Amino acid sequence: MPASYLFDPPAVPVIPVTGDARLFPVRRIFCVGRNYAAHAAEMGNEVDREAPFYFTKSAHAICLSGAAIPYPSGTQDCHHEMELVVALGQGGARVDEAQALGLVFGYACGIDLTRRDLQAAAKDKRRPWDLGKDFDNAAVIAPITPAAALGKIGDQRIWLDRDGERVQDARLSEMVWNVAEIIAHLSRYYRLAAGDLIYTGTPAGVGPVAPGSALEGGIDGLKPVRLRIEPEG
Ligand code: MN
Repeated sequence: MPASYLFDPPAVPVIPVTGDARLFPVRRIFCVGRNYAAHAAEMGNEVDREAPFYFTKSAHAICLSGAAIPYPSGTQDCHHEMELVVALGQGGARVDEAQALGLVFGYACGIDLTRRDLQAAAKDKRRPWDLGKDFDNAAVIAPITPAAALGKIGDQRIWLDRDGERVQDARLSEMVWNVAEIIAHLSRYYRLAAGDLIYTGTPAGVGPVAPGSALEGGIDGLKPVRLRIEPEG
C-alpha cells in the first residue's frame, strides 16, 4: 500500500506568468539585504562590499498582487520595500557569474513587507530577523514576465507609490550586487533549483503602511504590483 498522509499536504504556492497559462510553482524565497547604498544609509548602515547577505521567507508567505490583506499582526510599524524579484527556471550549485543568468526564468515586481519594529528589536538583541521578515503575506509578488520579454537588466526605473504619492524611486543599476553576482554567490551556499525566488533588495524610501493604505509598485517592462491593507473595523 502506498503511504498516506495524516492530512492533506499544503498546496504549492504558485505565481501567474505573463503570456503563459502555466503557473510558476514556488520552492524557496531568498532575500538580499542592503543592496542599494541609499537604503542602507537611511537605515543607519553601510553597505558591506565584501559580500552580499541574505535572509529567507517561507514559500507560504507569498501574497499575489491585487490582494487586500489585514494589517500584519504583532507590529506597530509594518514597512513596504519595493524590489525586483528574480524567478529561477533552472538550478545549480557553484554557478559561475557568466552562466548565472541562464538559470533565470523571469522577473517580477515584489514587495518585501517588513515588521520594522520587530526587525529592529532583533538587530538590537543580535537575534534572527524571522519575526520581522517571514510572516503571512510578507512576500508580495506580481505576475512573472519571462526574461526574454524584459531584455537585459540595466537602468530600468523601480518605484513605489503609497496612496498615490511616489515614495520610492530609483534605478536597477543602483544595485550594489547585480543579478548575476547574487545568483553566483548564493549558489555557493545553497543548491538552487527551479522555483526559487530571489528578492534583490530595496532602494531608499521605505516607510510605513497603515490600515487602508494602497501600494502600487513598478519596474519598467514588468507588470505592476498592487497591495491594499484592509481598513480598520
Ligand atoms: Mn528587502
